[in-house]
Amino acid sequence: MSSNPPKLLDGNALAALWKQKIKVACAAFDQKPCLAAVLVGSDGASQSYVQFKMKDCQEVGFQSKLIQLPENTSQASLLQTIEDLNKDASVHGYIVQLPLPKHIDEQTIVAAIDPTKDVDGFHPLHAGRLMLGRPGFVPATPWGIVAMIDHYNIPTEGAEIAIIGRSHIVGRPLSVLLSSSPKNGTVTLLHSKSKNLKEHCLRADILIAALGKPGFVTADMVKQGAVVIDVGTTRVQDHSIARGWRLKGDVDFEQVAPKTKAISPVPGGVGPMTRIGLLHNTLEAYKTFNP
Ligand code: NAP
Repeated sequence: MSSNPPKLLDGNALAALWKQKIKVACAAFDQKPCLAAVLVGSDGASQSYVQFKMKDCQEVGFQSKLIQLPENTSQASLLQTIEDLNKDASVHGYIVQLPLPKHIDEQTIVAAIDPTKDVDGFHPLHAGRLMLGRPGFVPATPWGIVAMIDHYNIPTEGAEIAIIGRSHIVGRPLSVLLSSSPKNGTVTLLHSKSKNLKEHCLRADILIAALGKPGFVTADMVKQGAVVIDVGTTRVQDHSIARGWRLKGDVDFEQVAPKTKAISPVPGGVGPMTRIGLLHNTLEAYKTFNP
């Protein structure tokens, strides 16, 4: 057991600080930054994510625009919407909420977004810039995790960092950021084909779980005194609350927390900081239009 209680990496509190900072920056602008979101179909989780993003804009003083398209929207029609947004000078940044319906090729859509407005940072140009350590839009979740690491002064230089999950939106870009200067960590990127996953995790000074398997990381996989960051957000049934579900992380929080130096909860950890990442990128996009 850890001699001191673990520090909670409080994403809600940190996000509130960032919102205040962005709100102050926004108040100084005559014309306000504008974020647009394109939502295709009626997936419940996607709808609520987009609504949160619109609400965040309102809170910090951004303008926002929601474009809702039916599930059967053709790829050609979505590409036309993207072309319109690329040309629309009143929109500084926009996102196309993923996942898209199966008949639409996500890579084609992402590649059609003007990189200067791609505030999700998913365009191949941004992925390449990230690899090369050049400025670009960093995807919101890795950005939020790095902001959290910075805020809580978690040492990364020379640290053993294990990341479970190699997706293009979380694990892989995060592995690049944390292994590059100035973070200078020694990163192990784990995935479903990794062997000896537990041994890799046990070496980690910082363990980041981003695989989408609730409660996957158990206490026997965590080194005493490690920092644990939980990215996972899976909806699990919970009939004790009216909506019938709650969010569960990839870490067995109750069992793992006592072994850690610091740990992020779910909800209230990485999620709120991901939302700040999008606001941050929108502000940066705005500044490129209004230098
Ligand atoms: P994803 O695209 O499904 O990728 C999952 C990754 O986990 C893959 O690389 C997969 O390996 C790996 N994986 C799956 N099962 C594994 C296992 N048993 N052992 C080791 N690795 C395994 O997921 P994602 O989009 O990155 O999201 C991951 C989780 O984070 C989800 O719960 C998602 O909801 C959550 N998320 C949260 C936020 C937030 O703001 N809090 C943002 C984004 C995502 P392979 O590559 O070999 O298949």
